[in-house]
Amino acid sequence: MSDRGRTTVVVDGKAISAEIRGGLASQVRRGVEAGLRPPCLAVVLVGDDPASTSYIKGKRRACGRVGIESREIDLAATASEAEVLAAVESLNRDAGVDGILVQLPLPKAVRPERVAAAIDPAKDVDGLHPLNAGRLVAGLPGPRPCTPLGILEILDRHGVALEGRRAVVLGRSAIVGKPVSLMLLERNATVTVCHSRTRDLADRVREAEVLVAAVGRARMVRGDWIRPGAAVIDVGVSVVDGQLVGDVDFEAALGVAGLITPPRGGVGPLTITMLLRNTVEAWRARLGG
Ligand code: NAP
Repeated sequence: MSDRGRTTVVVDGKAISAEIRGGLASQVRRGVEAGLRPPCLAVVLVGDDPASTSYIKGKRRACGRVGIESREIDLAATASEAEVLAAVESLNRDAGVDGILVQLPLPKAVRPERVAAAIDPAKDVDGLHPLNAGRLVAGLPGPRPCTPLGILEILDRHGVALEGRRAVVLGRSAIVGKPVSLMLLERNATVTVCHSRTRDLADRVREAEVLVAAVGRARMVRGDWIRPGAAVIDVGVSVVDGQLVGDVDFEAALGVAGLITPPRGGVGPLTITMLLRNTVEAWRARLGG
């Protein structure tokens, strides 16, 4: 078969999400019918970045549809780190809140690692608290970051075998690259992590039976970097000429990859779905629902 002769499965992240969200809505309904209060996710927004405001709107809508209550604390862009930490502390103490999310990016004056460390680890639905990051490294259960969870969900639902396979992860951020590398390793893949100092990047990518691209550089992965038949998960989001594009040249990958996530409706919906799932799990752990 020629390199462009195969049928590439294009992942429908919305359909996978709809199925999972349906299951979450049933769990919430059963808990509420049994007398529990509904789950509650609190979001802290600092400033009024339009992209963040729109993400939060999407999250609030998604919460509503599965029966999760959402609460929002809006702070001015000029808020100090102490003010953000105080908002997090008040949500930690609030027995009616199950999950806390602080929307990134934060203004320069506020250190994201200080904020992540201030969240009650039991309410850490983003999985970024150092204790939960440590649990991942140690192979212990705990909330995992949402985008890596969504990636694993996509691979599993398409029956992509991981054990013994060569996985290459582009990017080493605390929110995507590092945790997904560890989660693939936990599933017995042989994992290579690449970053801005990696030499011979195209050659590393060509080795990948499973490729996760989480860089944020439009179409940096060319079609001829992709190993024929590879499962390609494109996390990157860039806007070029008003169009959403990923880290992978999607058109060039069609007919070469075995499976690929599209720039829109791929990984994105799963990230929100995993946030909902982490919130429902935190609620069940808290209330026994
Ligand atoms: P990040 O913190 O900016 O990390 C980017 C990573 O890419 C870094 O590790 C960096 O290496 C590496 N990198 C930069 N230039 C590179 C190059 N030329 N070659 C190889 N590696 C390079 O980004 P992030 O938060 O992980 O997000 C990555 C992308 O995913 C962004 O586009 C973001 O918007 C998107 N995203 C999407 C979702 C979703 O749900 N769809 C969720 C989260 C993120 P160094 O460490 O050496 O600097």
